[in-house]
Amino acid sequence: MKQVAILGGGPAGAFAAEQLARAGLRVRLFDEKLAWEKPCGGGLTFKAYSQYPFLIDNPTPKRFVTETMLAAPRAGEVKLELGEPLLIYSRYDLNRMLLERAAGAGAQVEKTRVTGMTRSGSGWQLRTSSGAIADADYCVVATGARNPLRDVGTQLKPGDTMSALGYYVQAQQERIDIQFLPKLEGYIWVFPRCGHLSVGICGKGEPASALRKRLERYMQERGISWKDAPFYSHLLPALETKSWRSNRVAGDGWLAVGDAAGLVDPITGEGLYYAIRSGDLAAQAVLNGTGETTEVHYRRLLRRDFAADLEFGSRLAQRVFHGQFLMGSVTSRMVQFTRRSPRFSAIMQDLFSGKQPYLGLKRRLLENLNGSLYEIFMSLGFSRLVPGRSKATSLP
Ligand SMILES: Cc1cc2nc3c(=O)[nH]c(=O)nc-3n(C[C@H](O)[C@H](O)[C@H](O)COP(=O)(O)OP(=O)(O)OC[C@H]3O[C@@H](n4cnc5c(N)ncnc54)[C@H](O)[C@@H]3O)c2cc1C
Repeated sequence: MKQVAILGGGPAGAFAAEQLARAGLRVRLFDEKLAWEKPCGGGLTFKAYSQYPFLIDNPTPKRFVTETMLAAPRAGEVKLELGEPLLIYSRYDLNRMLLERAAGAGAQVEKTRVTGMTRSGSGWQLRTSSGAIADADYCVVATGARNPLRDVGTQLKPGDTMSALGYYVQAQQERIDIQFLPKLEGYIWVFPRCGHLSVGICGKGEPASALRKRLERYMQERGISWKDAPFYSHLLPALETKSWRSNRVAGDGWLAVGDAAGLVDPITGEGLYYAIRSGDLAAQAVLNGTGETTEVHYRRLLRRDFAADLEFGSRLAQRVFHGQFLMGSVTSRMVQFTRRSPRFSAIMQDLFSGKQPYLGLKRRLLENLNGSLYEIFMSLGFSRLVPGRSKATSLP
């Protein structure tokens, strides 16, 4: 391939561009905004920065957070120490850093909107808002969740997305807050960033206006003012199980990466790691010398790397947010068990950091079931019970 065009310069596109340019290909990256404050929490897990240490080793402003407060209805809250901190960037800073790395590796970075793409022989002709026509031998589609290029990238059906919205609030705190809510496939977060908080909510199957009301009620109850605070909202892919199977991540002459390929954790909404990782895998597929077509190779790399895990996660999502366990909601039980069982708390920490994939979670929970239940019973004071003095104790 002589020239690869990257359509979109968020984390997915910028990282794909960097990898391809480093390998010596001619790369042109087009983004209509270049670095911008894309609506996002900006949180990167251990899974991301352990695999890509440059995400830590750089002078770009960022925060490390080591404590999360988890809360659920009728379960109160519990502190979860993060053995592996969450790294939080402003998206402007993160995008700028990734674009600079791409340019530094030799990619040509251009501020323009791609308005159309037409197959031309074995390559492509791209139309841009500046009126120019650009030729490319291959395209990497990285235009995000609101991909305007209808013929390439994932085809999101209504059940495949969440709304996500919130406020950037002028306040400070050290920890992350996560609040689960009744009858919502989603949650509220408070993320401390450099100089402000990102307070937001994501949810599936509920209109954005209703989510905003839930968020404002939460903020009011906690005395967090949203007066004059910039409001943000965006779409978050959260593919249903059947959509993972038919997900359009590649086609003749193109690959899609990041949100444009629907590659987001359907439970947590984590997308930054999958954007960067899929950009990396797309570059590997373009450079592959296996004899497989680029598209087949990419699909295989994705599946083996994380897509099978996210598909499994999509099966768990309903159970996590709407399921019942021991006559309480699963999210409430999660908070209560985290409080009372160090073993369960360790599993939650590993889920947060990305060390514990969804595939294998059930086995680990079962392996630790006896130990966790023992710890829960002990914490409820059962060790002090003597015959004839037993009293019913419920999980606070
Ligand atoms: C409210 C919210 C909070 C989130 N919080 C987190 C979090 O804390 N942690 C986490 O891991 N994930 C989070 N996510 C998900 C994360 O933001 C995305 O998964 C991530 O941005 C995907 O990166 P991307 O490069 O695929 O797409 P994007 O970041 O959306 O980048 C797409 C780029 O394409 C450009 N573009 C689009 N169309 C065109 C066009 N026609 N021509 C040229 N350029 C174009 C845009 O300008 C943009 O720069 C959150 C999402 C939302 C909505």
